[in-house]
Amino acid sequence: MNKTIKRIMIRTAALLLLLALALSSCSFGGKSETAFDPEEENESSLPETGEEDAKTGSDGEEESETREEVLFTEEEVLIPENTSEPEPEEEAVRILDGQESVTGKGNIALSVRSNLDPDKPMIALTFDDGPSAYTMDIMALLEKYGGRSTFFVVGEMLEKRSEELQHMIDEGHEIASHTWSHTNLRKVSKEEGKEAMNSVITYIKDNYGYSIKLCRPPYGASNATVKEEAGELGIALVIWSVDTLDWSTRNAEATFKAVKKEAKDGAIILCHDIHKPTAESMKQVIPWLHEEGYQLVTVQELLYYKNEGATAGKTYYSAG
Ligand SMILES: [Zn+2]
Repeated sequence: MNKTIKRIMIRTAALLLLLALALSSCSFGGKSETAFDPEEENESSLPETGEEDAKTGSDGEEESETREEVLFTEEEVLIPENTSEPEPEEEAVRILDGQESVTGKGNIALSVRSNLDPDKPMIALTFDDGPSAYTMDIMALLEKYGGRSTFFVVGEMLEKRSEELQHMIDEGHEIASHTWSHTNLRKVSKEEGKEAMNSVITYIKDNYGYSIKLCRPPYGASNATVKEEAGELGIALVIWSVDTLDWSTRNAEATFKAVKKEAKDGAIILCHDIHKPTAESMKQVIPWLHEEGYQLVTVQELLYYKNEGATAGKTYYSAG
C-alpha cells in the first residue's frame, strides 16, 4: 500500500514537473510572438517566407515554425478580405450580369438584359439634355424598381458629369447622343450634322469605352440627310411616342398625369432630366409604371424585344 502511494506521489510529482516545464516554454514562445512589439510585428509580416527562413536558420527552428504559423494565420485573415474587395472584377460581373449583345433582325449590335419578359409590357423612359444635378436621383429611383433608362446626353454637359456618366454605365442604363450643343440638325450641313452627333459618340467612347448606338435629333428635327448621317455613323434615330411636355409645364403632377394618360406597351416617353420638377415627378411615375406591370427598359431593349432589332439610319418612334 505504502509503495503504491509512493509511486503515485512520484508520478504526480514528475507529471507536475513536466507540466510546469511545458507551461514555462509555452509562455516563452507565447511572449516572443504575442508581445506587441511593433518592430517585431513588422519584421514578421513584411519579409516573405524565404528571407525569414534564412534569417532564423539553425538556432531557432521551433521559433521560425511558430512565426510561420502566425504569418499564415495573418495571411489567412488578410487574403479573404483582399480577394472579396477587388472592385474591378466584381463590377465587371455586375455589369455583365444578365446582359447580352444581340442584333435581331436589324444591323446594330444591341446590349440588352436577357432576363426581361418579352410577353409583358415594356416602356422606355427617356431623358434628354442632361446629365444634370438631378440625374442621379432619377437613376436611384429607377434602380429601386429594377428599371433602366436611356439618357440622350448633350456634349456640353459631359465634362462636369463624369460621375453620372460612369454610374449610367455601371448600372446598365443607356447613353445616347443628343448632339454636342443641341443642334437643330435640319439647319446645318451634312458634315456639321454628322459631327454634331458623332462628337458625343467619340467623347463617350474615348473616355468611358462605351459604344453609343442611338441618337435623338434635338427638337425631333430630322430629314433624309439626317438619316443618311446616322446611317453612315452606324446608329439609329429615336424620336418618341409620348411627349410629357415636362419642359413646358415644369410641374411634377402634370408630368405624372401625362405619363398615366399615354403609357402603353412599346411607348417611348420623352422627359428632360435637367428640370427639377421632372426628377420630382419620377417619384410618382416610376412606382406607378412598375405597379401597372411595365418593365422599365432602355430604348435598345425596347427595340430588340418589341421591334426585333434596330437598323442604322432608321428612325424609331415607338416599338411593337
Ligand atoms: Zn433636347
